Amino acid sequence: MIEIMRTRLNPSSLLPAAILLLSAACSSPRPAADSIVTNARAYTVDAGKPWAEAVAVRDGRILAVGSAKDVLRHRAEGTTVVDAGGRLVLPGLADSHVHFVSGSLNLSHIDLAPAKTLEEILDRIRAFVRDNPEAAWIQGRGWMYPQFPGNMPHKRFLDEIVPYRPAYMRCADGHSSWVNSRALALAGIDRRTEDPENGRIVRDEQGEPTGALLESAAHLVSKLIPEPTPEETLAAIRRGLGETARLGVVLVHGMGGEFEALDLFDKLRREGSLTTRLSVSMWVDAPGPTDKDWKAYEDAAAKFHDEWISLGGIKLMLDGVIDSGTGAMLDPYEGQRGNKGQLFWEPEAYMKAVAAFNARGLQVSTHSIGDAAIRLSLDAYEQGVRAAGNPDVRNKIEHAEDIAAADIARFGRLGVIGSFQPLHANPDPAWIGSWIKNAGPEREQRAFAWKAVLDGGGRLAFGSDWPVVTIDPWPAIQVAVTRQALDGLPAGGWLPQHKVQLADAVYAYTMGGAYAMHREKDEGSLERGKLADLILVSQNIFEIDPHRIAETKVLLTMVGGKIVYDAR
Ligand SMILES: [Zn+2]
Repeated sequence: MIEIMRTRLNPSSLLPAAILLLSAACSSPRPAADSIVTNARAYTVDAGKPWAEAVAVRDGRILAVGSAKDVLRHRAEGTTVVDAGGRLVLPGLADSHVHFVSGSLNLSHIDLAPAKTLEEILDRIRAFVRDNPEAAWIQGRGWMYPQFPGNMPHKRFLDEIVPYRPAYMRCADGHSSWVNSRALALAGIDRRTEDPENGRIVRDEQGEPTGALLESAAHLVSKLIPEPTPEETLAAIRRGLGETARLGVVLVHGMGGEFEALDLFDKLRREGSLTTRLSVSMWVDAPGPTDKDWKAYEDAAAKFHDEWISLGGIKLMLDGVIDSGTGAMLDPYEGQRGNKGQLFWEPEAYMKAVAAFNARGLQVSTHSIGDAAIRLSLDAYEQGVRAAGNPDVRNKIEHAEDIAAADIARFGRLGVIGSFQPLHANPDPAWIGSWIKNAGPEREQRAFAWKAVLDGGGRLAFGSDWPVVTIDPWPAIQVAVTRQALDGLPAGGWLPQHKVQLADAVYAYTMGGAYAMHREKDEGSLERGKLADLILVSQNIFEIDPHRIAETKVLLTMVGGKIVYDAR
């Protein structure tokens, strides 16, 4: 009653309003819900009351959360009642690092991620080649270095099965590509070709390119692949949205590729088929933003600023990856005298760029993997936020895979968000083998130190970096709490001191992400007044063996009060 009075009270006509209220109170004691999810075990991610039985929804927002008895008072004629069957309900999940367009496009390429061995990789390529005789390019993604002799792929494997058409296979991490001889020939890459800036053409002892192209060298080939048309991209995004709805992801932070496709996402929103909310960052390369960049950002920010699509700051890329020895390290890679990886920005230019973005109130998300890159990001953020006098820009470090011990507490102290992707730490040797070998034993100890960042008062935001790994959050949550591969190895977990509690993992996938996208007032938890984004799942992950979390299936996804996926 009190709530109704507060919302409807009109000071200019107190008396009629009071009469109206009284009559409303007699006929309908509470606002009617459009829908009610009841008989649920709802984990709200609201510290004040973490568990509830029911959630009522009205006009796309949460009207009430609490006991079934209280919430069902909002039931009226026309209210849709969803019986959760005693199952777990969670806020819709937030993925804080995706490449939605390339992830979506990738759904129609060869998925190499499930392949564990080189033979399995080749089988998958062989099958695609056979089934797609019209494809001009054979494209795939998802291999990892340890699957190849010498931890690096070679063109000869591809040449045997794809001799006539160009083949382009991206590493899961997106930092390297594996191509066949036909692709090298089309790109004009031979022993005389020089390495491009920030890239390397891997060569054998005779100087012959092997078909492995690191970092920017991959672009020599990828630029030849015909761009998808807007229609093809739109069709791919629709498929991608089907995936996110199926997996329970309702909010994503776009870290590259989405900015260029804003109009396509907008088209989907206007036709009512956008089912995942987006915070979209703009990618800026060294040496820093141009006038054109500023204008593009401002124009987009003026156009997109609601709960479906908003602008989410700037994405910078400071180094490569540890697995291929391109992540920027303070000390040389194990057994690679002289190789400390590489910064993709001059430190001064990077500091200056961060300061300029922060001065405009823009959040910066930097890909920093090696301890040298992470340190430089922390330095830049510290200075940028101080100079801007704006501590609430919520700068993020993406990946932060190997933080120097002295820098761990700086995340909390400086309010820098650790944007981590638990599946990147999947300790399956086929995935992490080269990482461990290149880092060496001392640096391995501080690998993917999520728990240490958390304990130091830092905030975590979890995600996938889709299509680097699947956007499926459930195996990621399992790895975050077990530090084991999905087969349960190694026993006890890889560096078990870095495991996080399940509640912390769920938080990093809900409120942590919402906070990182400046959307915590509207999203991230099941609280009255927030957007009605929730999921119903097949099992209560708080009560089962954590080794079974990956098997969780989403039964229903609701976004803005609308059921966008239903597998009950
Ligand atoms: Zn990324």
